[in-house]
Amino acid sequence: MQAIDFRSDTVTLPTAAMRKAMADAEVGDDVFGEDPTVNRLEAMARERFGQEAALFVSSGTQGNLLALLAHCGRGDEYICGHRAHNYRTEGGGAAALGGIQPQPIEALPDGTLDLEQVIAAIKPDDFHYARTRLLSLENTISGKVLKVDYMQKARDLCDTHGLSFHLDGARVCNAAVFLKVEPAVITSLFDSVSICLSKGLGAPAGTLLVGKGDLIKEAKRWRKIIGGGMRQIGIIAAAGIHAIEHHIDRMAEDHTNARRLADGLMGIDGIDIDHNAIQTNMVFAKIAPDRLRSFNEHCAKHRIRIDNGNPIRLVTHLDIDEKSIDRTISVIGDFFHG
Ligand SMILES: *Cc1c(COP(=O)(O)O)cnc(C)c1O
Repeated sequence: MQAIDFRSDTVTLPTAAMRKAMADAEVGDDVFGEDPTVNRLEAMARERFGQEAALFVSSGTQGNLLALLAHCGRGDEYICGHRAHNYRTEGGGAAALGGIQPQPIEALPDGTLDLEQVIAAIKPDDFHYARTRLLSLENTISGKVLKVDYMQKARDLCDTHGLSFHLDGARVCNAAVFLKVEPAVITSLFDSVSICLSKGLGAPAGTLLVGKGDLIKEAKRWRKIIGGGMRQIGIIAAAGIHAIEHHIDRMAEDHTNARRLADGLMGIDGIDIDHNAIQTNMVFAKIAPDRLRSFNEHCAKHRIRIDNGNPIRLVTHLDIDEKSIDRTISVIGDFFHG
């Protein structure tokens, strides 16, 4: 029996068509700017995400780090949510490598930051304080979508207060599919956006950093400094092109599957689902702590892979179809009712 892996959308395997595109890719030395497939991916990214420039980088963490290094200097700070990926789960890279400090703000349950609190966190022009340079948002955040009018208000705030504006858009295509807009409607609001190709889009690796021309130029310099320049990387970029061409619209299926999973689990006593929180490809399920261990063992025995948090985060993706959802509901139902 094949495992059903809900731990993340990073676990997706390249499809046969994606592997063929990779095998057939024309390549060259990308540090010399001579990889035609990387150049094609970056051109496609500029167009699709409505920005002047694009840079293909190794990971979402690298994309966010390069953006922070390009926007901020030593002793500068960026404002972000207290659960932001580029604050909590990127090893403190901006501080370690750039002398940049975060100014986290407690995010509201819907993932937004209260913009009055953002304004209050901007430091006065006085040498006692760090220089506030940047506002960084994340969309989607824990599977939740920030709306376009909210992002526009945040953009206006940045313009008024002289801040740059970055989006950690690791899953921004999920947000666009949910909002039924082209991704550029979201991404063009920002000065820089990092977009993971290796999550729900299904590529084996790679992230696009898109943004203003001078900013991306600076980010490219930092990419070299941190050892991120790669050579015949068109082999991986070809997977990214395939992902953008074929795997954005289909994310609607992942969202439908997440709701199907939530609907099924709602009918089971012993498992608690916040159904209203489900917008894209994530479902959060709470279980009585004393049953958690045996629940994890039961799932493992039936080849259902889940993380060991509580609430458990279940992520749907390219490699989970409707039948897998139904099998999961039935296995979990057996645990609580059987
Ligand atoms: C996964 C993720 C990243 C980092 O991506 P990696 O490719 O794993 O380094 C950044 N931000 C968010 C919101 C993510 O979900």
